[in-house]
Amino acid sequence: IVRFTDVTKRYGNLTVLDKLNLDVAPGEKVAIIGPSGSGKSTLLRALMTLESIDEGLIAVDDEPLTHMSTRDGRLVPASASYQRKVRGKIGMVFQSFNLFPHMCALQNVIEAPMQVLGLGRKEATERAEELLAMVGLGEKLRHFPSQLSGGQQQRVAIARALAMRPKVMLFDEVTSALDPELCGEVLRVIRRLGSEHNLTMLMVTHQMGFAREFADRVCFFHQGRIHEQGTPEELFGNPQQERTQAFLSAVN
Ligand code: ATP
Ligand code: MG
Repeated sequence: IVRFTDVTKRYGNLTVLDKLNLDVAPGEKVAIIGPSGSGKSTLLRALMTLESIDEGLIAVDDEPLTHMSTRDGRLVPASASYQRKVRGKIGMVFQSFNLFPHMCALQNVIEAPMQVLGLGRKEATERAEELLAMVGLGEKLRHFPSQLSGGQQQRVAIARALAMRPKVMLFDEVTSALDPELCGEVLRVIRRLGSEHNLTMLMVTHQMGFAREFADRVCFFHQGRIHEQGTPEELFGNPQQERTQAFLSAVN
């Protein structure tokens, strides 16, 4: 459902994604681990079109998000409306929750469906109430972000992303700003989404325990490439590459 083909991203002299290839099947849960600066967030941001790429191709449902000009070999960006359509299949949740501080939980969730999908207030509200109940916040619809704990804010952020009906959800270290207790409630929601809604998920995480039980596949990033990948059993139990072994023994 998501395909990266020889994707390269540079910041000046620094190559952040280096001819990266990644193919994610519908419903697959992929955990992305690796050292700081290895390009994990850049990969997700490129998929969200928050970041342009220098070479290669990213496709969602076989529709390219960006494309190369065949005539003169330069990269030509897709038109804005086309990109919006393809990008609409993807939802993202960040480390910092990025909620609108002046809106209550419910307003945060209905805003984009009304503005972008053109849903009526009634329909958007019903759907938002369902989603907030699903993430365990049915009692806190009218709370403002400042009246919610970090874990609750993050669950609002998840409901907000889901309200756009994505096929693919991206999570970038969504629990690293939370203490362990709040972490657990967010991870439980994510695990449930994965099992009950057959969403495709890509998750950057530093929590090896969660990656191990959640993911179908774990990708170890190093210097802008997938250095090694496999099932959690393979990657955690029997890493083949020296760099992977060093990383895993450092984080455990
Ligand atoms: P972390 O685990 O610390 O979040 P990461 O794997 O997510 O790391 P990225 O955020 O993808 O790493 O960044 C990869 C590299 O790109 C880093 O070296 C970073 O300094 C660099 N980088 C990211 N954004 C920019 C930018 N806007 N301008 C210049 N360099 C950038
Ligand atoms: Mg990052």
